[in-house]
Amino acid sequence: MRRFYKCCSKMAALGMAMILAFPVTGYAAETEKEEQETQETVIQQEEKPDLQDDFYEAVNYDMFQQWEIPADKAAQNWFYIVQEQNDERLLQMVKEASEDEDAEVGSDSYNVGAFYLTGMDTEARDQGGYGEAGNAFLEKVDQAQSVEGLVKACLTFYREYGIASLLGFTYGVDGEDSSQNVLYLVGGDTGLSKEIWFSDDAANQKQVELFQTYMQELLKINGLSEDEASSTVKEVADMMKALAENSLGLADLYDPQKTYNVYKASDVEELFGESVSSETLEEIFGISPDEKMIISDVGCMEKVASFLKDENLELLKKYVKVSLYRDLSPYVDTKSHEAQQTYVNSVNGLEEGEPYEQQICSSVQSNLGFQCGKLFSEKYFQEDTRSQIQSMIDQVAEVFENRLENMEWMSPETRAQAIEKLQTLDARIGCPDEWPQEDYELQLKRPEEGGVYVDNLMEIAHVQMEQVFQTKDEPVDKSEWLVYPQEVNAYYDTSTNSITILAGILQEPFYDPDAEPEENLGKIGAVIGHEITHAFDSAGAQYDAEGNIRNWWTDEDLEYFQELSQKVIDYYDGMEIAGLEVNGEQTVTENIADLGGLSCVLEIAEQNGYDLKTVMESWASLWAEELRPEALSNQIATDVHSPGKIRVNAVLSAMDQFYDVYGIEEGDGMYCAPEERPKIW
Ligand SMILES: [Zn+2]
Repeated sequence: MRRFYKCCSKMAALGMAMILAFPVTGYAAETEKEEQETQETVIQQEEKPDLQDDFYEAVNYDMFQQWEIPADKAAQNWFYIVQEQNDERLLQMVKEASEDEDAEVGSDSYNVGAFYLTGMDTEARDQGGYGEAGNAFLEKVDQAQSVEGLVKACLTFYREYGIASLLGFTYGVDGEDSSQNVLYLVGGDTGLSKEIWFSDDAANQKQVELFQTYMQELLKINGLSEDEASSTVKEVADMMKALAENSLGLADLYDPQKTYNVYKASDVEELFGESVSSETLEEIFGISPDEKMIISDVGCMEKVASFLKDENLELLKKYVKVSLYRDLSPYVDTKSHEAQQTYVNSVNGLEEGEPYEQQICSSVQSNLGFQCGKLFSEKYFQEDTRSQIQSMIDQVAEVFENRLENMEWMSPETRAQAIEKLQTLDARIGCPDEWPQEDYELQLKRPEEGGVYVDNLMEIAHVQMEQVFQTKDEPVDKSEWLVYPQEVNAYYDTSTNSITILAGILQEPFYDPDAEPEENLGKIGAVIGHEITHAFDSAGAQYDAEGNIRNWWTDEDLEYFQELSQKVIDYYDGMEIAGLEVNGEQTVTENIADLGGLSCVLEIAEQNGYDLKTVMESWASLWAEELRPEALSNQIATDVHSPGKIRVNAVLSAMDQFYDVYGIEEGDGMYCAPEERPKIW
């Protein structure tokens, strides 16, 4: 699985990246065979509709006739196609690294090669259990005589490797002072997200079942009988579900008003009672009792606390073990790995899994992302792309600034702050100048040195945790990137007020240096506009030019902005796709970004006398996608982005120019009355 999922779960705790698109490798469920055949492509239509009635289907109709969802993929879209090309290139590079006898020990190339080789060494994997660290931890869990003892074992393991089930403490960017790090309380593994546990959708409910089967398989692999495994899963699943029920929903995770909750480290004593003391924090983490601490999800943590009683000791042990079995299943013995793959494939409705070596290569990419990113960028990122993209960013920013200057409803005070935020916005293109791995030493082992896959994984995790604790008192390194350069994506980072357009996306069809300017505008130009608008969406607007959570709005302006945001929520809420409804609140930040982004590039096209049709059709083709029904169910429940078809049709129906260019009239499918068209930026 790609790193986006990690980003998503860590987002509330460790800085917020608003990403352009989540690849839809969702955890959805398997449907009946008959249904799957008739619905294999849930969005494709039988006949080509008129542009005026369904712009997205009309523009993409011919391409949809040729597209087929690959057997080992949950969907087909341009993000997938380009990522697959990047993955093939990376597999080649990773293999070359693994064959390089002259690679210097500890170099990026050596580590990438060593991790890959140990991943492919199934014999050693089958003998290694959960690795030295994991085996020792599981032993401590078994030996714990009290909840306090169990929690201590968990906290010690977390400090070393950053793997949490019940609880953990780490450092990340302080929302109110983004130049400093602050302590975060993390944990409360819910297994599945709240949105899936409590979904009414049949495919999502099926996922809940498959998830429990998967946990049951892992318990059986670890020596439990069928009956023992079944009753254990029931207990653990009930606990996870209770935690999920009390945790924040997806829409709330983007709202700093809900996630920036300030405590003192010593407050853990009140929250967790005897299970966690200030002395324990000091001993294991070096945390002093009066240190400021942020709890992003208070409800979830309170629920964790309610379980920390000695009468629950056996349940808690089971929960902690199952959580570790799941976290490490892709890295340990063949049977566990297969159980994990069966789960992933069945929830996505896949006909077959990815080839084994590609799975290992994906794991190398997600665990040594910047090491792979450096190899990738050196070979595939063209330096002159940087200046061309920078000039597009400048164009979009100029239009945006002009809009801010002429925004009728905005007071001069708010306007000055908004313009300052725009002018200080940092743009990052391609790959970083400095690589994070240059700041620490990592030395993975090849099989001939006795290297084992899971031990290598734990070594990576350990070195990264050491880095977090060694640098916690230093000013935040604002040049750090949140997503790997080889990903086909782009993002806005609230804490650094920056946009990043990754090397992985700076390729056809997203960007083509030889294409007409209209085409690039409708594609990468609109992506740039989307990211810049994130600085001013309903979540981004709560951060100032420095990346700090601060209200820089006058009361009146804020109230009006919230009204405009509500109009965006209402406009999207309940829009239908294949019988499923978009959640307007959950997708509001992304929808505001889409609306702002396309609106800006249309203005640039008008200023330059470009053909608006090409811009609009380019935007429509960029978001073409075919999804398995399971993937769509999952996306609607757990993604903050609207599905591709909505990203195209809803956005265009809100643009006044669209009506003139295509002669859209009342009664047409794409028509929306002028007073109902949402518009903020
Ligand atoms: Zn976005």
